[in-house]
Amino acid sequence: MKFIVGNWKMNGNMENKEALLKSLKNLRTNNKVILCLPFTLLYGNNYGTIIGAQDISEHDNGAYTGDISGQMLKDADVKYVIVGHSERRANHNETNAIVKAKATAAIKNGIIPIICIGENATEKNSGRTMSVIKKMLLESVPAKGEYIIAYEPRWAIGSGKTPTNEEIATAFETIMKALHGIKRENVALLYGGSVNAKNAAQIASIKNVDGLLVGGASLKSDTFLPIIKSID
Ligand code: PEP
Repeated sequence: MKFIVGNWKMNGNMENKEALLKSLKNLRTNNKVILCLPFTLLYGNNYGTIIGAQDISEHDNGAYTGDISGQMLKDADVKYVIVGHSERRANHNETNAIVKAKATAAIKNGIIPIICIGENATEKNSGRTMSVIKKMLLESVPAKGEYIIAYEPRWAIGSGKTPTNEEIATAFETIMKALHGIKRENVALLYGGSVNAKNAAQIASIKNVDGLLVGGASLKSDTFLPIIKSID
């Protein structure tokens, strides 16, 4: 069983959601499929797919206009939430400390955070990938609780580029080492960045890769379902 997590970002409407959930309902798979939707699409999951959100407030409640709390997500029956996606880190100035606070808020509400880490192109080109992901990991991950780590090189997101298998394997080994002391069954490790039906099975077979985080290709059944099927 592998995790296949779709991240719709700021895309889609009710009709699109219904269409994808219907096709997922008819799919027989051993994989655990999770769909992380925009806030407006979180309610009303009648098809059995596991639903996740794409952000959570670090606060419990109060004067935080526009934010959504862990309690609210729990109320909407959300089971997972992406935190620290590179687009939020870049566009909303989310630091490792904020990401950690958000992950902690999720865990407190019984929601499993999918904590994203990954180097940008400059960091990769200057040979700093491992030190960057190690720092992000150590500063973004709460001391206890169940969580998922998504390794998503920023330069690979939406670009059609992916790291080599060796680069992914080395990154995951670094992550495992940095998480020493954490029980393996309490953490799942995902790769994300330009996953498609052609590369999914290969990437999912790399040591320590427990699943995939899929952006663009998760929006429609004709691109998402082949990914899920390819690693069954
Ligand atoms: C993402 O944004 O999390 C992602 C993996 O995007 P894409 O698959 O489109 O590269």
